[in-house]
Amino acid sequence: MGHNGEGQVKITSPQSPSDTPVYCDYNATSPLRPAAREAMLDMLDHVGNASSIHSFGRAARQRLEKARQDCLEALGLPNHRLVFTSGATEALATCLRPGVENLAAGTTVSGLLIASTEHVAALDGHGFAAERARQMSVDGDGRLASGALAALLDADASPSETLVCVQGANNETGVLQPVDDIARLCRDHGVLFACDLVQWAGRLPVPNLPADIVIVSAHKIGGPSGVGALIYDPARVHFPRPLVRGGGQERGVRGGTENLVGAVGFAAALDDAAAHLASQAERLAALRDGFEAGLKSLMPEAVIFAQKAPRLPNTSSFAILGREAAMALMQLDLQGVAISSGSACSSGKVTQSHVLAAMGVEPAMARCALRVSFGFSSTYRDVARLLAALEALSAPA
Ligand code: PLP
Repeated sequence: MGHNGEGQVKITSPQSPSDTPVYCDYNATSPLRPAAREAMLDMLDHVGNASSIHSFGRAARQRLEKARQDCLEALGLPNHRLVFTSGATEALATCLRPGVENLAAGTTVSGLLIASTEHVAALDGHGFAAERARQMSVDGDGRLASGALAALLDADASPSETLVCVQGANNETGVLQPVDDIARLCRDHGVLFACDLVQWAGRLPVPNLPADIVIVSAHKIGGPSGVGALIYDPARVHFPRPLVRGGGQERGVRGGTENLVGAVGFAAALDDAAAHLASQAERLAALRDGFEAGLKSLMPEAVIFAQKAPRLPNTSSFAILGREAAMALMQLDLQGVAISSGSACSSGKVTQSHVLAAMGVEPAMARCALRVSFGFSSTYRDVARLLAALEALSAPA
């Protein structure tokens, strides 16, 4: 298997034509979990619109509501409310808008305080005027200092009109934010907290003090693409206007006939991930650590970003100075190994990472940044193939 049992990966020879491709890009999207496929196949022939009152419609409604509650239970948020969306991008665009009601304070949100390392769907996709959207800086590991957030909230003349948005885990580096502290601070200041748990959910238990608003996406967890959820505490937040207007579905928060097959697949994927959370986290951390140890022994000059910071167990972000990411990705792809450079959510473009820039990484180094992310079907053999492919990269000119 290419693993000596002590966290060290034995490097196998580079790809032979009979080798199947190796996929190490779970943070971009995950293969479908068998449980999700099975659940969706079972739903495909179901006829019925969940809004219809006849028996077909009522059966569809029942399946939809079960999927909704199953998702909430799997996430450990049984008392939150869940709105199915077309993905996390839509969920973020729905909640990061002026006009959201802060029910506990009796106010309406008019400003945004957002971490500079958020996903572009949050950072560039929100509906606030530029002068009402403030970005918070991070340290060299990409972590937000909760003291800095406290100071900003203390200085805010009307904090209850501010919405704080911080992700749980970064998609590029895997770095975790202190979301429990942030949730506590926001609670103490009467501020709404929206937490993007797209990369966290299904990999780590949901934080103890849940955010008022939580965003998740099915395809990062082994569910189908194009399905996400906006989850919120109905006692603390209200969305008075839908982003996608229509027939009043999803309690008026999101119009349009619900994607029942997708919702059922999402619930099955989350359920499967939740059932194996602790054992998978341990297994993935061992794969990731084995990869990083192998990388350093092959290329001692490689820089691993935020290696000592709290991170997702499955993600490694690194750079080999002098080896541009765009070229390295193509060479690895030719060897049948799929990894990513920074964020893959930009239509195949390899753009410079705003996350690494916010962490103070020099542009020359950032251009060489690569991301490896493992998941439920990754093996030590994949790690060995990946290391062999990296070793075979042509030397810098
Ligand atoms: N938030 C994070 C942290 C992500 O990694 C992504 C996708 O890469 C998104 C949001 C957007 O998710 P979706 O693809 O479901 O729109």
